[in-house]
Amino acid sequence: MLARTHVVILGAGFGGLELASRLSAQLADLVHVTLIDQNDSFIFGFAKLDVMFGRRTMDEVRIPYRNIASPTVTFRQEKIVSIDPSDKRVVTNAGEYSADVLVVALGADLAPEATPGLPECGYEFYSPAGAARVHDLLGGFSGGNVVIAVLGGFFKCPPAPYEAAFMLHDQLVRRGVRDATTIHLVTPMGKPIPISDETSDAIIGLLDERGIRHSHGSLITALDPAKRIAHLRDGQELPFDLFLAVPVHRAPAVVVESGLTEDGWVPVDPATFETRFPGVFAVGDVTSAPVPRAGVVAEGEAATVADVLTARLAGGPSPAPYAGEVICYVEMGDDTIGKVDVNFLSGPAPVAAFTPPSLALADDKRGFAATRRARWFGVPSA
Ligand SMILES: Cc1cc2nc3c(=O)[nH]c(=O)nc-3n(C[C@H](O)[C@H](O)[C@H](O)COP(=O)(O)OP(=O)(O)OC[C@H]3O[C@@H](n4cnc5c(N)ncnc54)[C@H](O)[C@@H]3O)c2cc1C
Repeated sequence: MLARTHVVILGAGFGGLELASRLSAQLADLVHVTLIDQNDSFIFGFAKLDVMFGRRTMDEVRIPYRNIASPTVTFRQEKIVSIDPSDKRVVTNAGEYSADVLVVALGADLAPEATPGLPECGYEFYSPAGAARVHDLLGGFSGGNVVIAVLGGFFKCPPAPYEAAFMLHDQLVRRGVRDATTIHLVTPMGKPIPISDETSDAIIGLLDERGIRHSHGSLITALDPAKRIAHLRDGQELPFDLFLAVPVHRAPAVVVESGLTEDGWVPVDPATFETRFPGVFAVGDVTSAPVPRAGVVAEGEAATVADVLTARLAGGPSPAPYAGEVICYVEMGDDTIGKVDVNFLSGPAPVAAFTPPSLALADDKRGFAATRRARWFGVPSA
């Protein structure tokens, strides 16, 4: 019997989990997968907003990796400390792995320290710990100037800062302190969703309706912890009582040190997601693929890698290149969800169809999470 191909997947987020489950389904007899992540559980990106605004607790949104049931996949909770892409060797805090195929799906790290003053007087809400901290803070917030700021041009989930603004508005209304509060969203992006004017206009309309100020094309470059003032690139100043940040994003240091990056991110062949090192692939937020950073994108890229490996290992024609077809669900206030159906890569320019917010779409979003729980972990969604 031929030895199975050893596929080592670094990172068990959206990209890593989708790839592991697809390889189990498509190549169960030909591969063995080692899936490595530093954490013991997965949390959907959007679940951080649920935690931040008290819809669900951290314990409720954690899905333990021990639930991964596939005999094709071995999960290891270890921290990756070095990657040698030439030899396809990986060193962790607990051992070493030698791969036939290596896939880097380590996501993007947050760098609050890249904005002077932010660690001293602002709060990021993009990590699970950050979202939980902001949840605790909001419980005692009795009014003042809130700034929600995107601090870099390259960040996960373009709608998330707006979702946070709508959910904050609702929570402050419920608590009777909205009238004592200003909310101001500041972002370097020219519009909320650059590929969809329809979605952008809907978001801006809802911000205006709720009295949420917004400054597009504006970048906050530093915070003054003593004066509690944010400094903008154009010289303006913005006072704040509570500063909620989407910090600068960076590829994890272990990826940068491996030599896989160029200009900070991992370049890949857009048809196969192979890096310049043969047999080494990268998917998701860590790449510089010309698509937004989102879980649904990482998932689609992983599906393409699974098809590429299936063609190479089991034979058959090469798969079609990744088309960039995704559905994005957007929290738009009052517990309603809007939907954007996007195709980034098939045509000459991205196309996006917007479905206005409704409570029915909230059920669709729950269904989206349920299918991933079932596919990746074999458990139904709570
Ligand atoms: C508030 C918020 C809301 C969001 N909402 C949505 C949404 O509605 N829809 C959507 O599609 N996307 C959403 N996203 C974005 C989505 O979460 C990410 O784009 C997606 O998770 C990227 O997938 P990935 O596999 O590239 O990386 P990740 O899912 O980030 O996975 C990377 C994994 O690598 C692990 N890792 C990193 N370094 C190491 C190391 N040295 N050793 C071991 N393990 C390591 C991490 O622990 C992590 O599990 C949201 C994000 C946020 C923050």
